Amino acid sequence: MRNQTQHFINGEWVNSVGTDTIDVINPATEEVIGKISAGTKEDLDKAVAAARAAFPTFSRSTKEERINWLEAIAEGYKKRSAELIDVMTDELGAPLSISENVHFKMGLAHFKKAAESLKTFSFSEDRNGHTLVKESIGVSGLITPWNFPTNQTSTKIAGAIAAGSPVVLKPAEKTPYAAMILAEIIDEAGLPKGAFNLVNGTGDVIGDGISSHPDIDFVSFTGSGGVGEKIMQNASKTIKKVALELGGKSPLVVLEDADMKKAAKTAVSNMFMNSGQVCTAATRILVPKSKKEAFESAVQEVLPSFSMGDPREDGHNAGPLVSEGQWETVQSYIQKGIDEGATVLAGGTGKPDGITKGYYAKPTVFTDVSNDMVIAQEEIFGPVISLIYYDDLEHAIEIANDTVYGLAGYVFGEDQEKLRYVASRIRAGQITVNNARTDFNAPFGGYKQSGIGREWGDFGIEEYLEVKAVLGMPS
Ligand code: NAD
Repeated sequence: MRNQTQHFINGEWVNSVGTDTIDVINPATEEVIGKISAGTKEDLDKAVAAARAAFPTFSRSTKEERINWLEAIAEGYKKRSAELIDVMTDELGAPLSISENVHFKMGLAHFKKAAESLKTFSFSEDRNGHTLVKESIGVSGLITPWNFPTNQTSTKIAGAIAAGSPVVLKPAEKTPYAAMILAEIIDEAGLPKGAFNLVNGTGDVIGDGISSHPDIDFVSFTGSGGVGEKIMQNASKTIKKVALELGGKSPLVVLEDADMKKAAKTAVSNMFMNSGQVCTAATRILVPKSKKEAFESAVQEVLPSFSMGDPREDGHNAGPLVSEGQWETVQSYIQKGIDEGATVLAGGTGKPDGITKGYYAKPTVFTDVSNDMVIAQEEIFGPVISLIYYDDLEHAIEIANDTVYGLAGYVFGEDQEKLRYVASRIRAGQITVNNARTDFNAPFGGYKQSGIGREWGDFGIEEYLEVKAVLGMPS
């Protein structure tokens, strides 16, 4: 049992003011694996006060100091790799290979990239007769979700350290332990006291407290749209800047000249990635009408090469969903798709054959989906994809953009001009052409209701900076 009921405040692990705790559950075994504190507003106030006190010195630290801290964190993070991988498999249910090759590596990449970006980042420059200075925004409150435990925390923490912004982090209560290991790593990297603080607790208490706290200058939130809206409302009372990384309903446009088997493999592997609990998941697969049969048989052909099962057993691409609640939500969406008249090409409601324990949902492919169905409009956050057929490219683009979201888009095919054209027409923050690799220097964030702001690389540092113009004083 991991009973870690302390918060990290002002450079040390401290007991919570209250005694309430939250159970952390392993979604593969359904067993309680530990407890964390349900922090109180008093705990949060202490953390914010520590961050505030650290601000004058931390915000004036040099670029070299920040690079050293980030590099020391990256080193410490590598040293704790085995533990981080293990804990993410326990708290999230990710297969060990995914914990290592996706979750662990993404977390590490953000610290390394931020250190690298800083080397050429300019905090002061002469501009048309005035000096432009970029300064730490102040104290930042970070609120993260459970689906990529280290990626979500690391990208925010790395950006904040690079900008000299002290932080108070509230990790997701379903996956707090990877963040707590990260707190130990950051402590050992020698950051000034109070520059990094972690308070565990519920969204209603600690998350709400962060977004409304008068001594917090900026809130960076990743999570659902509904909570994003509440955060914006709370932040408006003190005119706090917010960055919101919210949901998505991303299209994958398969061009007529695409290799259907490769395209189907991409669609199916997307569905299995993190059991579909990915904000950028390609959940709407747009296929030319003329290729319906070819694409559907390619999906059937590739499906058996993917497997879902015990995350501690070798050879699985996906594990369970994170919680019973998430499992129920996904079941209700699958049922909704059936009720709305979509055809189940694979999967359906219930647990996969032979699995009785754990929150596993059947990887489900719907076909004959029309874009106005609920399963094509709402974020399911599970292993469910919808095949939607289009007449011509303009029709595909119209369907792709017929969503309140705009986080990501994908286009798959051969014709370079068409690939470029579709990429230019999809209204989303990141477009991936033909399985291009993740680029940690590329900005990440959404158009429309997918959010406000950008993370990763230089853009991720800019989020934590204010811009000052100094007139009459050359730099
Ligand atoms: P969530 O919104 O329920 O929770 C996210 C975080 O917010 C958690 O730490 C939670 O405790 C906290 N929270 C809950 N209520 C709050 C409140 N009233 N005030 C402040 N904080 C509160 O989301 P989730 O279920 O953890 O994550 C899934 C969602 O996150 C999906 O919608 C997904 O698309 C989105 N997401 C977006 C991105 C992105 O980068 N755009 C990445 C990952 C996940």
